[in-house]
Amino acid sequence: MKQLDKFYVNGRWVAPAACTFADVINPATETVSGRIALGTPEDVDLAVLAARRAFASWSESSVSERLDLLGAILAEYTKRTEDLADAVTEEMGAPRSFAGHLHVGLGTWHLQAAIEILKHFQFEEQRGATLLRREPIGVCGLITPWNWPINQVAVKVFPALATGCTMVLKPAQLAPYSAQILAEILDAAGTPAGVFNLVQGKGSVIGTALSRHPDVDMISFTGSAEVGVQIQKDAAETIKRVGLELGGKSAWIVLDDADLAANVGKATGAMMSNSGQTCSAGSRLLIPADRVDEAVGVARSVAEQVAVGNPAGNVAMGPVVSGGQFDVIQRYIAKGVDEGATLVAGGLGRPDGLDSGYFVKPTVFLGDNSMTIAREEIFGPVLTMIPYKDLDEAVAIANDSNFGLSGYVTGADASEATAIAKRIRTGAVHVNGGFDIMAPFGGYKRSGNGREWGDFGFHEFLETKAIVGAAAAS
Ligand code: NDP
Repeated sequence: MKQLDKFYVNGRWVAPAACTFADVINPATETVSGRIALGTPEDVDLAVLAARRAFASWSESSVSERLDLLGAILAEYTKRTEDLADAVTEEMGAPRSFAGHLHVGLGTWHLQAAIEILKHFQFEEQRGATLLRREPIGVCGLITPWNWPINQVAVKVFPALATGCTMVLKPAQLAPYSAQILAEILDAAGTPAGVFNLVQGKGSVIGTALSRHPDVDMISFTGSAEVGVQIQKDAAETIKRVGLELGGKSAWIVLDDADLAANVGKATGAMMSNSGQTCSAGSRLLIPADRVDEAVGVARSVAEQVAVGNPAGNVAMGPVVSGGQFDVIQRYIAKGVDEGATLVAGGLGRPDGLDSGYFVKPTVFLGDNSMTIAREEIFGPVLTMIPYKDLDEAVAIANDSNFGLSGYVTGADASEATAIAKRIRTGAVHVNGGFDIMAPFGGYKRSGNGREWGDFGFHEFLETKAIVGAAAAS
């Protein structure tokens, strides 16, 4: 049983101001796996004060000092990869092998990316008579969710460190273990006191205190649109920058060609990965109307073959994160049936043979884009197939969404797929499974603002200063 009863503030593990605890539940067993201390606004004040004091020197640190620190963090991170993977499996239920390869792997890749970018990043640039300087924005409040707990922390903490910012991290209550290990890693790597601080606890308390704090310069948030709106309201009074990475309802367009069956299979498998709890998931699968039967047959067969079970074992899908999330997903499945969508695979209840744990059946519907299951982010292993008559209609359906995070186009002709990708109003579109750790990640419309990942992620944490008429560097 884990006991997380200290916060990391000013380079030390300190007792919280008040002694209130919350249980952490293992979603595969529904048993208590540990307890975390719940912070108060007083803990936030101390962490922000430490970050403010540290900002004076860290913001002036040289690129080589920051590279040394990031290199030391990479060395410590590499030592702790097994611990991190165990933590992710225990806290949010990702299959252990998937947690190791992808959840923990993404942390490594973002850290390596930050190091490579920092080596060449232009913090100063002379433009005519003006010296442009990109300066760290200041003290950052980082608020993260549980679905990709290391990745979401990594895309904030590493660029913030690299750009000379100081920070207070508030991870999701449901997934506190991996963030705690990350704090141990930063401590072991010799991060200067106050540069990185960790306060665990409730979003409504810690997140609100950070968002409203007069000495926090920026909030970087990943999570639901509802909380994103609340953070913007809370941050408005102090005019702080708010970076938002919110939800999605992304379309995956399968082109009408010889690769259709293989691509429907890939899209269905991808939807079930991480139990469907991925903001950029292709949760609307757009298929040619005259090949519906073929596409439905492939999707059913793939969904029915997804191995669901104990994430410690050799499975493709573990549970969803919590009882609350399980109930939300069940309500969406029931709504899909009520609104007249055809159930292709899965449905209500747990998969056969699983009587406890928050396990959901890999579920596929055939429906249309007006249905709730096509409009709202379910955040579970539920795919909605939608037929299209021609490519103009496919693009129109893809763009008929309040969200604009991601998109997918797959087909034999990559040029045709790329031309379609250009017409989709989302922050990213993946053509034939393309993946790039350096590509910017973020959303149009209600999927948020700003961009994380790669050098775009650095700009999130930088202010631009113009020194007009600056003396030329000697
Ligand atoms: P939330 O948006 O509620 O939580 C994300 C983070 O924000 C958590 O750390 C949370 O704390 C914190 N938070 C909660 N309330 C506030 C507040 N008032 N001010 C500041 N921070 C706050 O996501 P949920 O975990 O509840 O998931 C709900 C839905 O959101 C999902 O079903 C999914 O649709 C979407 N979602 C999208 C994600 C994405 O990557 N785009 C990620 C996660 C969820 P606490 O731990 O206390 O809840």
